[in-house]
Amino acid sequence: MQQRNTKQRMLVLEAVRARHDHPSADEIYFDVRAKDARISRATVYRNLNVLAQSGEIAHVRVPAADRYDFRRDKHYHMFCVRCGRVSDAPIVYREELDGGVEEATGFKVERHRMIFEGVCPECLKEKAEDAR
Ligand SMILES: [Zn+2]
Ligand SMILES: [Zn+2]
Repeated sequence: MQQRNTKQRMLVLEAVRARHDHPSADEIYFDVRAKDARISRATVYRNLNVLAQSGEIAHVRVPAADRYDFRRDKHYHMFCVRCGRVSDAPIVYREELDGGVEEATGFKVERHRMIFEGVCPECLKEKAEDAR
């Protein structure tokens, strides 16, 4: 049983690492199901939680859904309000914001999160085509 648990966790971890598009728990579930037809949705969800808590993957909270990230370094995200796509924002993490808040309040900051909400280039293109 223990061995099966470990194997399932590895499958989930591999599935998250194989995708670079911030998959939802359901998307990971379908990827894992393709490799192990017996695995349940609850097992996949539980393993995602365990992996996120242990820091092996990152958990990204965006409007309406939880997503998972193979990247563990601090970075910001962009969320498309039309298609739900989550992508990495290509700007550096601003350490100095954490330091500023610490200095002003004595609060020990571990990190801050930022999500830019808007419409992705693909959706903008579609919109422009619809308008024609
Ligand atoms: Zn979009
Ligand atoms: Zn990311």
